[in-house]
Amino acid sequence: NKNEARWNFDNSYTHLPKSFFSSMNTNPVKSPKLVILNACLAKSLGLDSKELQSDNGVAELSGNDIPAYASPLAQAYAGHQFGHFTMLGDGRALLLGEQITPQGERFDIQLKGSGRTPYSRGGDGRAALGPMLREYIISEAMNSLGIPTTRSLAVVTTGEAIIREEYLPGAILTRVAASHLRVGTFEYAARLTTVEDLQALADYAIQRHYPHLVDHKERYLALLQEVIKKQASLISKWQLVGFIHGVMNTDNMTVSGETIDYGPCAFMNQYDPATVFSSIDRQGRYAYGNQPYIGAWNLARFAETLLPLLNESHEEAVKIAENAISEYGKIYETNYLKGMKAKLGLFNDEDQDEALVKELLAIMLKNKADYTNTFIHLTFNTIEKSVLYNKPDFTKWHEKWQARLERQQQSMESIHELMRNSNPAIIPRNHRVEEALDAAVEDEDYSVMEQLLDVLSNPYGHTPEQAEYASLPPDSDEPFRTFCGT
Ligand code: AMP
Ligand code: MG
Ligand code: MG
Repeated sequence: NKNEARWNFDNSYTHLPKSFFSSMNTNPVKSPKLVILNACLAKSLGLDSKELQSDNGVAELSGNDIPAYASPLAQAYAGHQFGHFTMLGDGRALLLGEQITPQGERFDIQLKGSGRTPYSRGGDGRAALGPMLREYIISEAMNSLGIPTTRSLAVVTTGEAIIREEYLPGAILTRVAASHLRVGTFEYAARLTTVEDLQALADYAIQRHYPHLVDHKERYLALLQEVIKKQASLISKWQLVGFIHGVMNTDNMTVSGETIDYGPCAFMNQYDPATVFSSIDRQGRYAYGNQPYIGAWNLARFAETLLPLLNESHEEAVKIAENAISEYGKIYETNYLKGMKAKLGLFNDEDQDEALVKELLAIMLKNKADYTNTFIHLTFNTIEKSVLYNKPDFTKWHEKWQARLERQQQSMESIHELMRNSNPAIIPRNHRVEEALDAAVEDEDYSVMEQLLDVLSNPYGHTPEQAEYASLPPDSDEPFRTFCGT
């Protein structure tokens, strides 16, 4: 193995106690074919795109060959799924290792859809092409929106059919992540390993993601506080762009603060806190408006896992954890309000700002206004194109907002610039994503997806060609459903 793709693997995860993973061989596939490669990401990882496209590279991206110094393993984890604790683990993914970039950064390289593992339970360990391409599109769009997320390096088709409700083409996604440490990894450690193992995991997480805490006097509390801060910031960013994760189970919440596991996620069209896209979320547990609360619920599960490390006395530990968790709401609200004010071009603070934001959202809800486009209309002063135009409550709100803008020092130019940089022209609208996936999966035509990826890569560019992509689905009353169809 000549390593022409320039893999530079380290395998720090293999130094954790054995209970945290199962070392494995990869599972070869019939006839791997590269269908999309993220050349920019490859470059930033220090990888050679041309070599990744060669037979050798494609063999590595499909598990048919193991790159030099990779040490494939499936990670053990658990998690609360829709509120219920379950033992999980990588049932269809393998960590190849950690790529050390030329800048010295460390990223997990994971093959998703790579076959059965000891954690597969009844599953086949495989993934279908459509959902892997969907994860590719949405994760890259999130990254371009400035939202912390796992990335997508490549998708290969396997040449094998997988059995779901019908036969579907199989595929493997190469996922790149700061790490795959999840709240669920800690739940696994706390419930199914020893306190020593739990401590080893916590120390590993600190070393890897919060190295400034290594010598902290109360480093496990500090870890909890950092994760709370990261998640409060992340979820506020989701809310600001109208992203609905769809399956905020604790196994899908990272310790690094990156968005992970793009299953039945989607972006909201009309503003409505009750919006649910996932067909499996019948109770609306993971509805748009619930996401900030679920964030707190999941972080409470995280805090519980750390109790033995927080204090010798259980009662003391609970108090310490509760205190930390109680900060989440404030941190979230501060981030969210700051973001919302930027969307409205507000630089300074006034007492009524929060009310101004809430009033606009209430008007949008009542009038079924599109979330993204409303802010674009406000930014470019094209309200006459909005359903809100001439609505008396909106007209009154608009006057109030204009007066508020005039009460700050900043020029109209800087206000406009702040709004342009805070309001994306384009989000991955469901109908556009589906159109791209249909062309790719049904006709092997990747041009629609490539074009979509191109416009999504510059959401704050406000270029003329984005205008077409801002249009709403033809039948926007039809509730869109994303299925798990993995
Ligand atoms: P997810 O819904 O993608 O977050 O996955 C939840 C759990 O189910 C994880 O432990 C996955 O590894 C596992 N899983 C999902 N699909 C499969 C599959 N086709 N085969 C085996 N395990 C799977
Ligand atoms: Mg998951
Ligand atoms: Mg998934």
